[in-house]
Amino acid sequence: METAYPSGLVWLRRDLRLEDNAALYHALRHCRQVHVAFVLDRAILDTLPRADRRVEFIVESLKGLDDRLRALAGPQGGLIVQHGRAQETLPHLARQLGVQAVFASHDDEPYAQTRDARVRGHLADAGIAFHTGKDHVIFERQELMTQSGTPFSVFTPYKNAWLRKVNDFYLKAWPVERHAAHLAPRPLQFCQPVPNLTDIGFEPTNLSRLQIPAGPGGAQQLLADFLQRIDAYGQRRDFPALKGPSYLSVHLRFGTVSIRQLAREAHARMQSGSEGAAVWLSELIWRDFYAQVLANFPHVGAGESFKRDYDAIEWEKGPQSHKRFEAWCRGRTGYPLVDAAMRQLNETGYMHNRLRMVVASFLCKDLGLDWRWGETYFATHLNDFDLSANNGGWQWASSSGCDAQPYFRIFNPVSQSEKFDAHGKFIRRYVPELAALSDKAIHAPWLAGELELQAAGVELGKTYPPPIVDHAVAREKTLERYAVVKKKAA
Ligand code: FAD
Repeated sequence: METAYPSGLVWLRRDLRLEDNAALYHALRHCRQVHVAFVLDRAILDTLPRADRRVEFIVESLKGLDDRLRALAGPQGGLIVQHGRAQETLPHLARQLGVQAVFASHDDEPYAQTRDARVRGHLADAGIAFHTGKDHVIFERQELMTQSGTPFSVFTPYKNAWLRKVNDFYLKAWPVERHAAHLAPRPLQFCQPVPNLTDIGFEPTNLSRLQIPAGPGGAQQLLADFLQRIDAYGQRRDFPALKGPSYLSVHLRFGTVSIRQLAREAHARMQSGSEGAAVWLSELIWRDFYAQVLANFPHVGAGESFKRDYDAIEWEKGPQSHKRFEAWCRGRTGYPLVDAAMRQLNETGYMHNRLRMVVASFLCKDLGLDWRWGETYFATHLNDFDLSANNGGWQWASSSGCDAQPYFRIFNPVSQSEKFDAHGKFIRRYVPELAALSDKAIHAPWLAGELELQAAGVELGKTYPPPIVDHAVAREKTLERYAVVKKKAA
């Protein structure tokens, strides 16, 4: 881009930070004056429950950004926050500010694609340029392709190609501060503080009580803590009772941390021999992998199975299925690990990765319910909800995805519990009514003796439900249900 614009506007979306922000860097390099804005998009917000941790996380993060912009650009600097439908509000704002160009980072989710196409059209009508570029992932869209020029659909070769291609160029930070003199003061009518939750029709949640630190400062705090234990990540990450993972997913979702910073930290430690860092980098590569799946196979974002044959599967329907789904959502299935996981999600908006796999498998392979029901529930409740990773995870569990687990691999919720929460520590945290059971009985209370149950104050059917399905029977049913896929493959 050779143009030098008198003034430009950076439209933040899922890149809520100033440091190492590609769109902001390009704007500062190419415009003499740069405004920074965020639109609280009613097209998204109006569909959400009135108490939503993610909205609170965004608002808290915006306040931090506003403070930071004032520190960099003086008291009349700051973030311009608008509340309206982004596709009309943003072009209107650009016209009001009189800018010649708008800068933003790519977003490949279907809604964002439609919105951006409309914004581009409105801006073009007003003679305003719209520059977008990569920020959210290390490699996007068609940047990494197989040798035959097709998108990857298997993870290991993708990861190998990713590791071969990555270098300092892809991991380098976009230095924003040294160009900060180009940050513009806000015109008076835009010098308003970031709205509070109630100003935009939302209620406070338990976000601060949960101590989920918002904003780039919060991300750096979590990162510093994680880097002290990254070497042990490989050994600890599968055990939900341990502090094993980074808990950075919500920050990656909203871009309050730069993926380049995380990949750089992990890559450097991997090269110095840290096995934990190598495993963690692999997880970041899974994130890139699913992002490129969404970009290259858009049917997965439109509710279809990656492997289309799997759309022939007939899922359970009718009132009993809805009751079972409800029990799954509320953490009342009678399988303690599944219930603890669902209650963790409901209470905190987070669920440990191992447990996401367990509950997803339970929904489609024990309850026989359509994976899309679970995907939608996660989309509403996860703080870190990200369409590409969530869809990838669900299609992995239901075996319909690319590089998914085979359909005949069915997690046993009791053995998963015995293996990954052997002492029932995690279960006791979220299912306190079972806390007094022994380490052996807590994984399957219905197998415990009457005396043990009594001594622990557990009355099946009263204080805690009996299992809503028999895993062995459900397993057989699932193999029959998936036979339609086997027949097609034969
Ligand atoms: P860490 O273990 O510290 O991993 C670091 C980062 O790597 C994560 O923050 C995430 O960005 C990425 N990552 C890790 N595992 C995966 C994975 N399997 N796929 C893609 N990226 C990964 N992750 C989301 O960010 N949003 C979702 O909506 C989401 N839905 C999921 C649904 C299902 C059914 C499953 C099985 C997994 C889902 N995941 C999702 C992936 C994973 O569970 C979470 O990223 C992880 O638990 C977040 O915790 P963390 O930040 O502590 O992870």
